[in-house]
Amino acid sequence: MKQNNMTIEVKAILENVAVVRVAVSSFISSLDITLDELMDIKTAVSEAVTNSIEHGYDGIISENNTVLVNAYIEDEENIKIEIVDEGIGIEDIELATTPTYTSKPELEHAGMGFTIMESFMDEIVIDSIKDRGTKITLTKKIKNKKSKECNFIENEIKIC
Ligand code: ADP
Ligand code: MG
Repeated sequence: MKQNNMTIEVKAILENVAVVRVAVSSFISSLDITLDELMDIKTAVSEAVTNSIEHGYDGIISENNTVLVNAYIEDEENIKIEIVDEGIGIEDIELATTPTYTSKPELEHAGMGFTIMESFMDEIVIDSIKDRGTKITLTKKIKNKKSKECNFIENEIKIC
């Protein structure tokens, strides 16, 4: 498998979380990856993109508020995905990553996004500067060989 990379930039609206999920799924589906691993990556990316929209930009919709996703197939076993926003940034990363902590309890947030990203991916690096933005770098090592069965993701991406 050749190295490959993809960049997608979307307006910061929640509808685009699904757009990113499909794009990332399609990008990595050529790898010898199991459905479980693909689901882990999709879930973690969704959490990070949702955070950029809801927290980074505080839900404010504007032409300038975009989320950038850079995905890299580094080799046949290593995937790296960066989720970047230019929002408010995270002041206290230790607090933000504490399980069940949320700065928006009134919106029924569970405060489990970072915990999910940590448990579904091999590594998560958080770079954030207050009032400048946040970059989340997620990495996953592909360990399992896919099964012989075919599965469909988002009704169109076939994993065999
Ligand atoms: P939740 O989204 O349910 O609040 P998370 O674990 O996903 O829980 O995030 C924890 C907290 O980290 C958020 O409540 C928010 O304060 C902060 N946070 C996460 N991502 C960002 C981001 N991209 N920009 C600014 N703050 C963020
Ligand atoms: Mg969250």
